[in-house]
Amino acid sequence: LSEENQSVLAAYEWLTKLYHHLLRFTKDGKEGYNYFKQRGISEETADIFQLGFAPNDNDFTAEFLKKKGFHQQLLVKAGLVSLQEDNKVTDRFRGRIIFPIRNHLGKTIAFGGRTISNGEPKYLNSSESELFQKGKLLYNFDLAKKHIRKSSEAVLFEGYMDVISAYQAGVKNAIATLGTSLTTNQAKLLKRYVDTVIICYDGDDAGIEATYKASSILKETGCHVKIARLSDGMDPDDYINAHGDIAFQNDVIKASETYISFYMRYIKRSYNLNLEDDRFKYIAAILKELAMIDSSIEREYYLKEISNEHNITIETLKQEMHTHRKEVE
Ligand code: ATP
Ligand code: MN
Ligand code: MN
Ligand code: MN
Repeated sequence: LSEENQSVLAAYEWLTKLYHHLLRFTKDGKEGYNYFKQRGISEETADIFQLGFAPNDNDFTAEFLKKKGFHQQLLVKAGLVSLQEDNKVTDRFRGRIIFPIRNHLGKTIAFGGRTISNGEPKYLNSSESELFQKGKLLYNFDLAKKHIRKSSEAVLFEGYMDVISAYQAGVKNAIATLGTSLTTNQAKLLKRYVDTVIICYDGDDAGIEATYKASSILKETGCHVKIARLSDGMDPDDYINAHGDIAFQNDVIKASETYISFYMRYIKRSYNLNLEDDRFKYIAAILKELAMIDSSIEREYYLKEISNEHNITIETLKQEMHTHRKEVE
C-alpha cells in the first residue's frame, strides 16, 4: 500500500469512529440516532456496522482531520471533502447518516451517506479511488464471510439498509452490491465460497429486472441461483419492519424459489399469452431454459406444469426440449 493510501485509510478510520461516536453519544448526532431508531435499527446493530452521523457543518470534518495532521489535498483525494472555487472545502457527507463501507479485511475504505430529510441525492457514496472500486467489492462481505462459508449460501441484496436489517433479523450471510449491477468480478468472488446465491432484491420492476441480470451473471460463473420473492413493491427492509424477523427468515429466505420458477414468471411479462404465436414463443423460451437444468426430475416437474397449463402432451414438450438439451450435453 502506498504511503498516501495508508493515510487515506487512517483518515477513514478516524472519521468512522468520530461519526459513530457522534451518533451514539452526542447531541450533534441525535438526528441520526433518532432516524435509525425510527427505522428499527438497534444500538447493538449500529455498533456492529459502525453507523454514524456527519454534522450539518461545512468544514467540521476538514477541521477535525487537519488537527489530526492530514493535508487538505489528501482529504479531497479521499473523496471526503469537496474543494470550492475559493479554495475552501465542504464536507461531502454533511447532514447525512453514514454507512462505513468496509473492504474484505474489515477496513473502511469509503462511506455511503443517506439524507435524512428529503434532500437529493438520497444516497451519496465516496468517489471511486484506488482503494474503493465498487465493482470489486461486496458490502458486508467481511462480516458475512464466515456465515457464507458455513452455509455455502449467500443472500444478495440491493441496499445497505437491507443488509443491515437482514443481519439484525438473523440472516447473517447478507451482502450487497454498492448501488450498481452485479459484476462478473463479484460473482467470481462469491463462487469461491458458495454453492448457491439467494437473490433478494426489491420487489419493484427495477428489482425484478436486476434480479434477471444478476442471475445470468451468477449462473455463468457457476453459482446456483435462488430467488427470494417480495410482493407489492416492498424491499427486504420494508418487509422485515412490516412482518418481523421470523417471517422474513421462513417465508422469504427459506421459501425462496428456484431460478426456473422465477424465469417462467419473468418472461411471461414479455408475451401476450392470448395470442397463439406469443404462446408458442413463450413455451419455446422456457423449454430452452429447462434444457439447461441437470436434474431430470426437476425438468420433468416443470414439463408437467407447462403441459397442464397449455394442454400440450409431455412427450411433445420433451422432444422439443431435447433439441436444446443436445446443445448442453
Ligand atoms: P432506503 O431504505 O434507505 O430508502 P434503499 O436501500 O431501499 O434505501 P434503494 O433506492 O432501493 O434504497 O437503492 C438501493 C441502493 O442503491 C442503495 O443502498 C444505494 O447503495 C444505491 N442508491 C440508491 N439511490 C442512489 C443514488 N441516488 N445515488 C447512488 N446510489 C444510490
Ligand atoms: Mn430499489
Ligand atoms: Mn430499496
Ligand atoms: Mn429501503
